[in-house]
Amino acid sequence: MSKEFEIIEQLFHRRVRKRRNVSLGIGDDAALTRLPEGCELVTATDALVAGTHFLADAPARSVGHRCLAVNLSDIAAMGAEPLWASLALSLPKIDYDWLNDFADGFFALADLHDVTLIGGDTVRGSLFASLTLQGSVPTGQAVRRNGATPGDLIYVTGNPGDAAAGRLLASNELAGIAASSARDLLVERFYYPQPRLAAGLNLREIASAMIDISDGLNVDLGRLLRDSGVGALLDIATIPLSAALQSSVDRATAVELALCGGEDYELCFTVAPEKEAALHGLADSWGYTLSCLGTASAEPD
Ligand code: ADP
Ligand code: MG
Repeated sequence: MSKEFEIIEQLFHRRVRKRRNVSLGIGDDAALTRLPEGCELVTATDALVAGTHFLADAPARSVGHRCLAVNLSDIAAMGAEPLWASLALSLPKIDYDWLNDFADGFFALADLHDVTLIGGDTVRGSLFASLTLQGSVPTGQAVRRNGATPGDLIYVTGNPGDAAAGRLLASNELAGIAASSARDLLVERFYYPQPRLAAGLNLREIASAMIDISDGLNVDLGRLLRDSGVGALLDIATIPLSAALQSSVDRATAVELALCGGEDYELCFTVAPEKEAALHGLADSWGYTLSCLGTASAEPD
């Protein structure tokens, strides 16, 4: 048995807890899964390259968490439910401690969202992790980017800008910020983004269009508006800047990070005004904030 295979057995195969709709998981040439009745298959792939998508010295636990979190965010943004993950890892060397921490981060999040790791590949090369995540959505019910109509209200979950500030703090690019609980919170928001699965699922019934804002509110809301063929009337003052962000940088920097920083993995979506009451009823249980930024308008920008 090769060393690599032993490590996969120990660190990945044995830690798989749930096996939802899996006939055959890790161990054979390919996995076999069953799509729930009446559902479409949803597939997202995101690759993280050391030095580009995560800091080369990032904690391995964070890399394991993030490679799943970024894909969960895409699945959430479709209004879908995650099921199965397949992981391609490229490693310069087999470092047991690094892989063990990576697996800790990965499985903590996988178990939280009932995701089953069904396979992958492990090769030697420069450090990167690519994850393909699959899930299900009742046929015809996925929420796309192109459904907004004029008059729809534009919402965002959570506090955009925190993760980008955390990235700058973690890479020592924000000078003069002393150690503080605000600093710790922002760095945590960068290293361990929490994808908004509960919101995504609830919004399947409510949102007319949805996107996750991994590239920043400005760019990603722009994509939603463009694909929907609408414009927007936005009030910058309504962007929900967190207390931690506001206590760490000046207001102009905070707004810039919230609009353009990226890495947030929040959901941005539109709802018809008559669905607003239902939206707020559901959002009470999410545990993160919900903010209205403005209204979709007839004139494309
Ligand atoms: P093969 O040569 O048939 O591709 P491998 O030795 O690469 O087989 O993999 C053996 C088993 O371990 C397969 O089921 C594969 O899906 C799984 N596997 C390999 N690498 C990973 C990984 N990084 N994460 C999860 N499963 C993996
Ligand atoms: Mg292989």
